[in-house]
Amino acid sequence: MPDYMFLLESRLSPEQRAAMLRVQELAAVLGFNVYLTGGTVRDLITGANLRDLDFTVEGNPSKMARELEKGGAKVLSEDEKLRHVELLFAGDVEGSISAARDEHYVRPGTRPEIRWSTIMEDLRRRDFSLNAIAISLNPASRGLLLDPTNGLSDIEHGEVRALSIHSFTNQPVRLLRALRLAARMGFKLESRTQEWFNLAIERELQLTITPEDAGEEVRSLSREERPQLILKEWEEGDLLELVHPILAKKHPGYDAINRLIKVRDDLYMAGFRPRLATPMLLAIFGRLKDRELSNTLSKLGYRSVEIEASEKFPEKALEIQKELAGKKTKTPIDAYRYIEKIPMEYVAYLLAESSNSAALSKLKAFLHKWRPVRQALPIVATELEALGMPRGPKFDQIVQDVFAIQLNGRAKTPEERVKILRKLSGIKEPPKKKEKEKKPAKAEKHVETAAEKKAAAVEKHATHERHKAGMKAAAAKHKAKK
Ligand code: ATP
Ligand code: MG
Repeated sequence: MPDYMFLLESRLSPEQRAAMLRVQELAAVLGFNVYLTGGTVRDLITGANLRDLDFTVEGNPSKMARELEKGGAKVLSEDEKLRHVELLFAGDVEGSISAARDEHYVRPGTRPEIRWSTIMEDLRRRDFSLNAIAISLNPASRGLLLDPTNGLSDIEHGEVRALSIHSFTNQPVRLLRALRLAARMGFKLESRTQEWFNLAIERELQLTITPEDAGEEVRSLSREERPQLILKEWEEGDLLELVHPILAKKHPGYDAINRLIKVRDDLYMAGFRPRLATPMLLAIFGRLKDRELSNTLSKLGYRSVEIEASEKFPEKALEIQKELAGKKTKTPIDAYRYIEKIPMEYVAYLLAESSNSAALSKLKAFLHKWRPVRQALPIVATELEALGMPRGPKFDQIVQDVFAIQLNGRAKTPEERVKILRKLSGIKEPPKKKEKEKKPAKAEKHVETAAEKKAAAVEKHATHERHKAGMKAAAAKHKAKK
């Protein structure tokens, strides 16, 4: 079996890797086997963005959750019956830890009996083969791929394949999941899976999807890269009714979704990776009135904190817009300082939805003009150091002052900056004579050159003046002679 360790090493962010190492460590201490599973492995293999880390342990994850909490992780939800914990690890890494389990259905479509199991049984009870792959994180087999249902081959063929003839009967929410996965990945349903899917729809199994299960799908939808593709599939399959009848009738806010996606791509280019679940949810449900939205989310099993967050989001965005259009953010540096503290999801929302030109122009300047200047600020520090200023609070203040000057469109060239840095630091230019005698040291070359240039300019000017004076004197002499 191939070794997938290199994928882990290269694809995880430093924060994700730290979270994984911590989970590995805790599992080892507790004597549990631990695996990366589900969407994480699928996304690793296909090269998709790694949004979250799904771990499965052969044991109860609740003790691990307690330990992780001590280290700064936040438990977002915990299902003690299913032994499933949703977490936000330190460094804002989303993830989950589940106990390996098998599900036994006495009859298709009944509630399954749950048995704690090994990883292999756990993988076989999953929905689709491409979701039923694991990577071992155990010391003796770290990086080993476990693929008991041949998911890798289905990924290669671009197919979503259900693992049992009873798959949709047992869990009708898989109808939504199948279309979501296929649309997201550009895959098709494998032929037998398509037959089972059609049969399930004929039998109207979609009407038995619980609102909570549909809600989980909506939650996942709002975190998708291109939710509009999935919504179109759900709409075509008449499954949108399950989310909300009005949404099916009035259609999702495709325009708002597209606007937000365009902004998100822009933010990616500027080096930001904002979480856009809330603004995306608002875009999707854009045509519902505030109250309708809250009621819908509540029916879909959203937690009250989530509902409140979505209710307050537009209000908070309006407050931000007001600040951006007001006096407190009049100068570029004040606007910069204000915007850098705003969570990026609000920046994205305003860029997509606001029509306030003052606010918009500041947000755009922040992304495309001010941030690049901020990122180049270490150069200014190097220049100041080269002038001979020791690092410390005064040094930092000068760098910040230059930053403010740069945001006003000045101090763009090294020459201009050195002049300003000399002024702010009180470091005078070395005497001209010394300049001429001494060849500049290599490390100081840039600053010396600038100083030299200035000295040369002064010298040239003086020569010119002397020449002019000489000419005048000669002319006067000539006149006198006459
Ligand atoms: P996403 O990228 O949207 O998080 P995901 O595949 O990780 O996709 P989750 O809802 O986080 O989706 O589920 C994690 C894993 O749990 C899935 O990959 C799948 O193996 C399994 N799973 C989720 N829902 C079901 C289900 N209804 N039936 C069987 N297995 C499921
Ligand atoms: Mg997941």
